[in-house]
Amino acid sequence: MEGLFDSHTHLQLRAFARDRQAAFDRAREAGVAEMVVVGIDGTGSREAVALAAREDGVYAAIGFHPHEARLVDGEALRLLRELSADPQVVALGEIGLDFYRNLSPREAQARAFREQLDLASELGLPVIIHSREAAAETYAVLRDWLAEGPRPEEPVGVLHCFSGDLAAAQRYVEMGFMISVAGNVTYPNAARLQAVADALPLEHLIVETDCPFLAPQSHRGRRCEPSYLTETVDRIAALRNINWPEVAAATRENARRLYRLTGSPGERA
Ligand SMILES: [Zn+2]
Repeated sequence: MEGLFDSHTHLQLRAFARDRQAAFDRAREAGVAEMVVVGIDGTGSREAVALAAREDGVYAAIGFHPHEARLVDGEALRLLRELSADPQVVALGEIGLDFYRNLSPREAQARAFREQLDLASELGLPVIIHSREAAAETYAVLRDWLAEGPRPEEPVGVLHCFSGDLAAAQRYVEMGFMISVAGNVTYPNAARLQAVADALPLEHLIVETDCPFLAPQSHRGRRCEPSYLTETVDRIAALRNINWPEVAAATRENARRLYRLTGSPGERA
């Protein structure tokens, strides 16, 4: 299968207000055939679903980012349940813990995280996990979630923009998660992430831009967009000493497996 899969974008955000359509076009020109637009709150999730309905090869994830955890109440969960009925919705996310910026109180983050994990179980959706400065806490929540509930179908989800070491990545893989590598793997000081991208078995690896954030080295400090995914794939191919098409094909197939996309690209079975 040709083409790349950007497993995590935020094309609904205002950073793309002026040239969103051009960004989709540049992505396709660069060979990014499929992508997921990931929600961060109620409005962002609605917008992700709307973009997925309009654009070929674009899917949506719905959820409340840990920064917005204080907004997760009964009404918010009802909204997610309602949006999940759309056939283009492929995941619950992004959800998790962010103790770096602490934009929502930690207790609110923990509660919102667990409630959305349980909703994902109920809806049969894989989860997209955001974890920053909260490695031990995130791991404990996910371990408890998988131990307590009925075991979800694998892959159970993805650690997005992974920032841990190889041992942590392997622990998550054993739990049934994928590991997603973003553009920061191209940074000169990214030895730990490069070690993960080099050594983790390819069948557990996917790639993302997390745009508009985390532009790869040649665009560092500027707005990121899906067309830059090629640079991340270049770096991973070089690290693993394998060719570009092999990384492209494997990461795309893995993302399709994660998001339960079967049949031909651009349409869900
Ligand atoms: Zn994100």
